[in-house]
Amino acid sequence: MKLEMLAQEARDCPACRLASSRTQVVFHDGVPGAALLIVGEGPGADEDRTGRPFVGRAGVLLDRILAAVELGRQDVYITNIVKCRPPGNHTPEQDEIAACQRWLRPQLELLRPKVILTLGNTPTRHLLDTRQGITSLRGRWHRYRHPPERTSGSSWEAWLMPMFHPAYLLRNDSRAPGGPKSLTWRDIREVKAVLDGRLDPARERRAQGAP
Ligand code: SF4
Repeated sequence: MKLEMLAQEARDCPACRLASSRTQVVFHDGVPGAALLIVGEGPGADEDRTGRPFVGRAGVLLDRILAAVELGRQDVYITNIVKCRPPGNHTPEQDEIAACQRWLRPQLELLRPKVILTLGNTPTRHLLDTRQGITSLRGRWHRYRHPPERTSGSSWEAWLMPMFHPAYLLRNDSRAPGGPKSLTWRDIREVKAVLDGRLDPARERRAQGAP
């Protein structure tokens, strides 16, 4: 209910330049209360037209990736770092990302997911506050702390897995072992194992030498 109210509030958001070129704000899909939150970069043309995130070719591939581990939209909550389409599908600028935090932060606060799956560089870098790229960050478990600045007494943590963006996989279609697609299928299996309680991310991190 609160997420729907937030989505309604965002409908006329004028807070950054992306407001002037969008058809509509693309706020979310899936179910509030899901243990898995998926965060992409921003809406594309199909999403801008329909108002739903991940409905174009990349969205179809995302659905296939989720289906490979028996997950569907009814099991996840999906949103983007920016809620309005960047013209020409440009990577969101820092000021656009900063402005749209007014929506992502309360979304995170209301959702408090067990696992966050970030797709591609933009959401991964933003949520982990790093300049490292997806190639070096994917396939490993990271801790996400909210709020990042820890000024609140009610902070919480989730496990974060970065994964290649489906649009990148469409451009790099090889199924060769060790290629982006096979790595992605490996990553989503890990995510499912953590959701099911069959894998402990803290133990995985220690095995990889992380604190
Ligand atoms: S991208 Fe976010 S901050 Fe910018 S206008 Fe859209 S909803 Fe508002």
